[in-house]
Amino acid sequence: MRIPDLREAADIKGSRQLSRKAVPPTYIPLKNAIFYSMAAAYAEEKGSRYIIGGHNGDDMRVFEDAGDGFFTSMQAALSAASPRLSKNKLEIMRPLRDMGKPEVVALGAALGVPFEYTWSCHRAGERHCWKCAGCKARTKAFKAAGIKDPLRPKKV
Ligand SMILES: [Zn+2]
Repeated sequence: MRIPDLREAADIKGSRQLSRKAVPPTYIPLKNAIFYSMAAAYAEEKGSRYIIGGHNGDDMRVFEDAGDGFFTSMQAALSAASPRLSKNKLEIMRPLRDMGKPEVVALGAALGVPFEYTWSCHRAGERHCWKCAGCKARTKAFKAAGIKDPLRPKKV
């Protein structure tokens, strides 16, 4: 599925006024509602029970749609929308929920995750830009974890 119009909001003033959290400039309106709806459509087609998200504790502190309330409601809504997902007792799992980004990097290193195949940049391109919020968070997390990022060039 392609979702070419999904991008960071041009004007988040209204979202900032209503949010209980500090809405960052990287906010994409209803991003997780859209992604989990797409995942649920796939899960329904495949007859799956689980949808597993990679959200971590840092995400929960920043984004309304990465917290427990959102996922409880989303799971209920998706189950209500799909008899097959309801029958399969759909469960959205977030195994990294209680970890910060540096802990996630450390866990990945311990498990042998091939970080050279991971993507953190918020911009489209062949390589990470190392300037956007996603790239900066990645750099900070690897540094805090004390692990060399195989993608990060020596000089940026
Ligand atoms: Zn970037």
